[in-house]
Amino acid sequence: MTLTDTHAHLHFKDFEGDTDQTLARARENGVRVVLSVGTQLECSRQAVAFAEKHDNVYAAVGCHPHDSKDFREEDYEAFKQLTRHPKVVGIGEVGLDFFRNLSPRDWQEKVFRKFIQLHKESGLPLILHIRDAHAETFRILEEEVGSRVCGVLHCFSGDMAALEKASAMGLWISFAGNITYKKNTYLQGILPHVHKDKILTETDSPFLPPEGFRGKRNEPAFVRATAMHMAAILDISLDDFAALTSRNAQELFGWPLDGERPAA
Ligand SMILES: [Zn+2]
Ligand SMILES: [Zn+2]
Repeated sequence: MTLTDTHAHLHFKDFEGDTDQTLARARENGVRVVLSVGTQLECSRQAVAFAEKHDNVYAAVGCHPHDSKDFREEDYEAFKQLTRHPKVVGIGEVGLDFFRNLSPRDWQEKVFRKFIQLHKESGLPLILHIRDAHAETFRILEEEVGSRVCGVLHCFSGDMAALEKASAMGLWISFAGNITYKKNTYLQGILPHVHKDKILTETDSPFLPPEGFRGKRNEPAFVRATAMHMAAILDISLDDFAALTSRNAQELFGWPLDGERPAA
């Protein structure tokens, strides 16, 4: 079985001293590829350094909307340098969070547009963190990119209208552990409407552990629990679901499906 965790923060302090064991547990649970995602410049550098050290771990670089207030103009060049690293496969996480509003909205938008620029310059897909801002996000993407966009809505939280718009734009849709929560019938109802070739799995480790692991630190191995839940909703086997979502992830991020290092 080949499961994929398309969104984790394995380079965070939460995993310090435990990364080898964490990756071993992931492998034991069938997880072959993990994408470690940056949230600001220093964090993105750490994600790249981490990916460099571990086979089957890739990195994304970006500035989280929460951290956009700290983005400096001169950081752009540093981010651009990072995108040239062979293990960097995405721009993220970037986007808009109008739910928590930890950075002013105009700053979030300004920084988001910068990273869309970087997406266009690098050709790397966007990893989008969007909360309570789907309409604004689609408007900005249309202005900056056009009607088709290469990227993923990570930890999807939108409604059916948002899903339809995202699908029309060609975006991938990624689900995290919160789809397994008993009360989350809403997300469970959305999943069957996502085009099969666009469904992705993620943990968002160390956050959002799935049902059965709540209250614990989340880790890539637990993507299996989320995948089991999603496969059951779609009424397909875990093996088929794992193969499908790993193929989808490979299509978006371009890493080898077996998780081997690409030949240089
Ligand atoms: Zn996020
Ligand atoms: Zn995240």
